[in-house]
Amino acid sequence: MTWLATSNPCPGLFYGTPAQDGTLIRIRVPGGILNRDQAIAIANLAERWNTPVVQVTNRANLQFRAVRSIPTPEVFSTLQSVGLAAQNPELDHLRNVMGSPTAGIDPTELIDTRSVIQAIDNYIQNTPDLAGLPPKFSIGIDGGGKIGIGARSEAAWQHRYNEIQFSAVTCDRFRLTLGSHRRFYETNVETSDCLGAIAALARTYLEYVQQSQTQKKPRLRDLLTDWGIESFLDRVPFEFYPSDTVTSTARSQHLGIQPQQQNGLSYIGIALKLGWMSISQLQGLIQLSETYSSGELRLTPWQSILLPHIPLEHTSIVLKEIEALELSTNPINAAIVACAGKPGCASSETHTQIHALELIKQLKSPNNIHITGCTKKCAQPSPAEITLLGTTFQGSEAYSLFAGDRPLSDRPIPASELSTIAHLINTLHD
Ligand code: SF4
Repeated sequence: MTWLATSNPCPGLFYGTPAQDGTLIRIRVPGGILNRDQAIAIANLAERWNTPVVQVTNRANLQFRAVRSIPTPEVFSTLQSVGLAAQNPELDHLRNVMGSPTAGIDPTELIDTRSVIQAIDNYIQNTPDLAGLPPKFSIGIDGGGKIGIGARSEAAWQHRYNEIQFSAVTCDRFRLTLGSHRRFYETNVETSDCLGAIAALARTYLEYVQQSQTQKKPRLRDLLTDWGIESFLDRVPFEFYPSDTVTSTARSQHLGIQPQQQNGLSYIGIALKLGWMSISQLQGLIQLSETYSSGELRLTPWQSILLPHIPLEHTSIVLKEIEALELSTNPINAAIVACAGKPGCASSETHTQIHALELIKQLKSPNNIHITGCTKKCAQPSPAEITLLGTTFQGSEAYSLFAGDRPLSDRPIPASELSTIAHLINTLHD
């Protein structure tokens, strides 16, 4: 057996991304929504590969670590048949379309984005030319509800979840944000016209990539610098107006029991430590969702998971059963975002994930903490409240500590002294 697509720095399904502990495989989940059959296919795959955990990523994808064999044609075709793998392997490197995980259930949303996301994913899957786009090509569609994604914070300019981000601002209007361009634009597009705008933006981006002389595939920000925003938007069949609307969203608002727009139903947000679930926990969640709901699970860009459509009278029992799976809705469990680190990533100075799990146990409040093994900050390019930057100090693994951009200590703190780091962080919030 061989891989079916050209290797790529960003992990996918049809090509292997080697790590020190085996192969890293990432499965794209458009909009982060898994129906019952898809969830079961993932659980079966985890059993077959005997991976210790299945991880929800910060793009609401699923990731398998330490895979020791190349997937067989049967694995590829099973995932394709349930809609979890590209029909064309050469498109597999393109990022999944990100959406609010509460699409269609958030009582405050302006637009239910599920059909738009499905249409965009179909367009990508059926447009082979898009294989020429860089893996960082990414689209987000936000329905404008309480649980938002993308450029919605005070530090919106630094948010780089998606290169092309549409956020609903009324029930028939989206705001457009383009990667690394410090302005917002609004446009009037019907939900059904959104696909046309995305297709025009993607074609223009592709045209630029094809003209580019550089060996490395250029990013959207390079296009905006070279061509200018006006030239880019001139090629799209819609008017765009400058906008300065910025709203904010808290990363833990979706956790616990939350009301749905459908009367008598709730969803329950579960905070996964680093997005990790064991195979038995995943199987348990599928069973719970089948028993009390439709078997659907939803993944979030905050590496958590939602059980939607739970009848109100069953929420207490479902919560107890979640606890029996040794899972929790406590936001502290979702406080830390960590990159792959050692041993998976050769660039890392530290065992980020092991240290993150240890640190979570010692936190008193749900801060937004980012642990990164090097300055690339793969896990969270946008600024965190507190950052631990991996380094080597006096021959040992250590962390430089920052609150925003401000250093919190005058020297790196050894990773063996995580309690000192926890104390410093907890003191900030006393
Ligand atoms: S941030 Fe650095 S250490 Fe962490 S996964 Fe990315 S490249 Fe590796």
